[in-house]
Amino acid sequence: MFVSVAIDLGLDRLFTYAVPVELAEKLCVGQLLRVPFGGRIARGFALATTEAAPGFKTKPVIAIEDESPFFSPALLKLVRWIADYTASPIETTLRAALPAAVLKPGARAKEMLYVDVVQPTGPLAAPNPAHGQLTARQRQLVSEIARVGGGWMQQLVREFKTTPATLRGLAERGVLSIAPRTARRDPLAGRNVLPTKPLPLNPLQQAALDIILDDSNPQSRPVLLHGVTGSGKTEIYLQAIARMLEEGLGAIVLVPEISLTPQTVRRFAGRFGDRVAVLHSALSDGERYDEWHRIRTGAARVVVGPRSAVFAPVANLGLIVVDEEHDPSYKQEETPRYHARDVAVVRARLEGARVVLGSATPSLESWLNAQTGKYALASVPSRVAGRALPAVHLVNMEDEMARIGHLPIYSAALLDAIHRRLENGEQTILFLNRRGYSRILECPACNWVAECPDCSVPYTYHRADNCLRCHVCGGWRHVPASCPDCHGTDFSYTGIGTQRAESALQRCFPHAHILRMDADSTSRKMSHDDILSAFRAGKADVLLGTQMIAKGLDFPNVTLVGVLNADVSLHRPDPRASERTYQLLAQVSGRAGRAEKPGEVYIQTFSPDAPAIAAAASDKGFAAFATAELEDRKSAYLPPYCRLATLVFRAKDEALARSWAELYAKSLAGWAEKFNAKDVNGPAARFRVSEAAEAPLAKAEGWFRYQVVVRAPAARDIVAAVKWIGSARPVPKDVRLAFDVDAQSLA
Ligand code: ADP
Ligand code: ZN
Ligand code: ZN
Repeated sequence: MFVSVAIDLGLDRLFTYAVPVELAEKLCVGQLLRVPFGGRIARGFALATTEAAPGFKTKPVIAIEDESPFFSPALLKLVRWIADYTASPIETTLRAALPAAVLKPGARAKEMLYVDVVQPTGPLAAPNPAHGQLTARQRQLVSEIARVGGGWMQQLVREFKTTPATLRGLAERGVLSIAPRTARRDPLAGRNVLPTKPLPLNPLQQAALDIILDDSNPQSRPVLLHGVTGSGKTEIYLQAIARMLEEGLGAIVLVPEISLTPQTVRRFAGRFGDRVAVLHSALSDGERYDEWHRIRTGAARVVVGPRSAVFAPVANLGLIVVDEEHDPSYKQEETPRYHARDVAVVRARLEGARVVLGSATPSLESWLNAQTGKYALASVPSRVAGRALPAVHLVNMEDEMARIGHLPIYSAALLDAIHRRLENGEQTILFLNRRGYSRILECPACNWVAECPDCSVPYTYHRADNCLRCHVCGGWRHVPASCPDCHGTDFSYTGIGTQRAESALQRCFPHAHILRMDADSTSRKMSHDDILSAFRAGKADVLLGTQMIAKGLDFPNVTLVGVLNADVSLHRPDPRASERTYQLLAQVSGRAGRAEKPGEVYIQTFSPDAPAIAAAASDKGFAAFATAELEDRKSAYLPPYCRLATLVFRAKDEALARSWAELYAKSLAGWAEKFNAKDVNGPAARFRVSEAAEAPLAKAEGWFRYQVVVRAPAARDIVAAVKWIGSARPVPKDVRLAFDVDAQSLA
């Protein structure tokens, strides 16, 4: 027998070894093997076995490192699919699918000494004669230990004020037993998780659950659960998972990295207790090792985690939930550049599991799939318990500026609304998305933004040659001398950050308690969890933050949400800018009025007519926005009507990065011409290549970045083209090429 092995050396090829007879019985795919490699010993995963001898000489496998496989055959298939789809090396993909803590040399379960009372055995067992010779103090200690049912040596020593020597002495006399036991490093230890019972579902929730559990739905056809914020989606997930457990099946729940808060974890642990494993990026290596093994052994049947949890080794997988399925954190931005939502759909298909994609603001990819019937659609159009969605007001900042003569951070209407909350003892969330791209050319007088006429994305300003470039098609123009709308000549790039917003608010309301939460605020004295708990406990009146506070939070006393500048994300040089803006506004608005008291939202904007912003304030809801946005995407030939891939070339030497980007752009354009001439997929099939241009992030950490954007009907068309060029013209060592077949943004 022969086995092909993936060795983690970044070589992107498999190596064949002979399987010695003594290992042949035990060896199977997915195991970690020890093999000879270039004069030393390497570790690698067995990917496939065959009886057919290869046409070359092979070395034998040295040993099987661990007999239980790290990857099931289905997971191996999944990893291979990702490697193909994203054009990533198989070893890198395998590595991404397994927590590093599991493979670390020396990683093992933690063993601690466990002390128990030796019970007399047998029907006629007499009391242990040794007991009679104990001192009163010793006898008391033994009965205490018996009462608590034994425990870890460390703990007993502390609790009963004794010493290890005393316990060992009692063990020598046969009264106690002391033996090492596996101790779980429990990430939830010390958190009080209150058990919860299923809530009676309302009819809308019940209908959605029925669709998810519908046996006549071909099992792996994804269900898009579109439920407005506060519609009780989590309760639906919980009850779907409960059904899986009843049927002996396991479940995976993916949540965005940022919403993997104790609050979220508690909701799942509260319902399923020890059967829940959490895979959190903040776990210690030991906790991660233990959680992974609890999943592999089946001790845990429900996994909650961020995108990488889609690879959790759950056996008999019944359901994958992708909560907030539109969230950008599901995309891995390094090799392999997979999207966990897509991986979830593929894994469900491979394993015959159900998959639910849930969101109040689905990605247009999923929405289109639901419209065409590729996905089933379950809708929950209203909040639980008849609670109303908040009333949303747009505040036109242009008017505000005209009125007071300068641009304020807070409009009079928003200040007034905050003031009322302070008086009533209600809470406010203020949202300011700082992730501004200041390189968009904007006229502050009339809010005109320079956009590419062909792609409906803003141009990016390039200081080096003082011109505007479109990052989708590569088109460019010179910076205009004056604004075409108002003839102003003062273009702006400025923005307001959360820190300035905080101090300005404090000046307006000197007695208000304000908490700030952004990437910088964690390094201060409170962690994110501390900040959120303090806010929940009513220790502050206002929570001011970036997109970190936009999703998932459920604070009953919040009745006001203010968005300080809705336009920031609107003018990013990104085909999804409008979609992201709508999502953000809808999500952050959804934090208001989640309990009995109704909520109100104020959105400050210069672009009240921009579709994403107008839609966020209208009561027509997501479907109306999606329909209009899909039309735009279709006519501009943008996703989901095509695949949009990026190739980013990085080099320390700018000319080198540029020349390789240009070379690839030219070769790809040649490929595109032939592809389009064939017209195999009908007239709609178009393969388009941008010019090589500086990436929006033109230089990072000393590396110059140049970018080529490719659009085509299918990902495999793009992968084929890039592979073909890559083998003919591999980039040299001093140039790095990052190929992203489904780029989520153009950075
Ligand atoms: P979503 O995830 O859709 O925003 P949640 O699952 O957070 O909504 O639910 C919002 C609130 O409604 C939560 O506090 C939840 O406990 C409560 N809830 C959910 N379903 C019900 C129900 N059937 N009856 C009463 N309360 C419910
Ligand atoms: Zn363009
Ligand atoms: Zn203007």
